[in-house]
Amino acid sequence: MNTFLQYNPTKLYFGKGQVEQLQQEIPENANVLLVYGGGSIKRNGVYDDVMKQLNDVDATVFELTGVEPNPRLTTVRKGVEICKREGIDFLLAVGGGSVIDCTKAIAVGATYEGDVWDLITQQAPIESALPFGTVLTLAATGSEMNPVSVITNWETNDKLGWSSPHAFPTFSVLDPEYTFSVPQDQTIYGIVDSMSHALEHYFHRTPNTPMIDGFIESLLRTAIETGPKLVENPQSYEYRETMMYISTTAFNETLKNGTDGGDWATHRIEHAVSAIYDIPHGGGLAILFPNWLHHVIEEDPSRVKQLATNVFGISAEGKSDEEVAREGAEALRAFWDSLGAPRTLGDYDITDEDFDSIVEKTLIKPGVGTYVEMNGERVLDILQRSL
Ligand code: NAP
Ligand code: FE
Repeated sequence: MNTFLQYNPTKLYFGKGQVEQLQQEIPENANVLLVYGGGSIKRNGVYDDVMKQLNDVDATVFELTGVEPNPRLTTVRKGVEICKREGIDFLLAVGGGSVIDCTKAIAVGATYEGDVWDLITQQAPIESALPFGTVLTLAATGSEMNPVSVITNWETNDKLGWSSPHAFPTFSVLDPEYTFSVPQDQTIYGIVDSMSHALEHYFHRTPNTPMIDGFIESLLRTAIETGPKLVENPQSYEYRETMMYISTTAFNETLKNGTDGGDWATHRIEHAVSAIYDIPHGGGLAILFPNWLHHVIEEDPSRVKQLATNVFGISAEGKSDEEVAREGAEALRAFWDSLGAPRTLGDYDITDEDFDSIVEKTLIKPGVGTYVEMNGERVLDILQRSL
């Protein structure tokens, strides 16, 4: 194992009715900016639950609504402006990863004099942020308990991930009932995104990590067991709670303890595709991930073999490492197919027209791919296999 620091200051309130904890977490008489998306929280009652708590602590509530899936810089700027104009003390994100990521960017932008894009592009250091909490309504990204955010700038067609110790939520409320209304496609994307986060952690090259490897394998087996049942029974509290805990754990820093952190090339490629086509994140990952695995197997099949045997229960008897690994990659593809996840870029009407630009955007920052180093040829091949 490598040396590591385990640091996660986010308090997690997990379970039915936990929205009541807002009363002790939101400062009394605060100016609160409530951030949410296109209105799902008004239709499923979460908005009313949250407002009741905010009224009870005499908060003065300002609202930023209409945060887009794949949140946009323009919306972040709107939020920053409200914070500065109204003297906001606390931000509350109520929604999925997009709303939370947008809130993180607003929180750091609100205490910075210049344009928030400077912080997202790391042209200026992030030195502080307004405090913020979240009420999660979609199990997928892990943003509710990590310091990461992804923002799209449509002026430059850039979708950039950034992170900062100032971008951890102070607390997050995770009530599985709040995810009952998540539509089937988003439920599936959430399963794929969570599994991708776990898988990306898994592809590290640090020796002697049996505990973390086993933890990841167990998380993946549980997702594989629970995912199909959840898609069939979207109102099941049990399946929703299991998936919610999986998605948070898959990307709350725990899975990189003692390792080199894993290989996040697929996320980088997906962000580059999304920057041009605005497709759902989990949908993009389902298409790309198995094709990235092809390159992993060519470079070194041992890890995919371990995945095949320990997660998918594939027998290695009488087979080469590569054969077992290929069966494992196929099993992953077949599992996501069985859920109803997209399989090709064609499912989103994407052709090879912009591949050069996607390759360029993927490689815009150095160091893409640690298990398998990415170069232009490889990224292009992954895209072509995804057509
Ligand atoms: P999302 O974009 O937040 O939400 C997708 C859709 O689901 C929205 O239309 C939203 O509607 C709807 N929705 C959310 N909760 C709902 C509910 N309870 N009932 C009905 N509909 C609901 O999806 P996401 O997958 O959580 O977030 C995706 C974004 O996060 C992408 O930009 C991705 O790149 C990023 N991401 C971030 C991280 C991270 O660590 N920060 C990791 C991976 C991905 P409303 O708008 O009406 O609420
Ligand atoms: Fe993701």
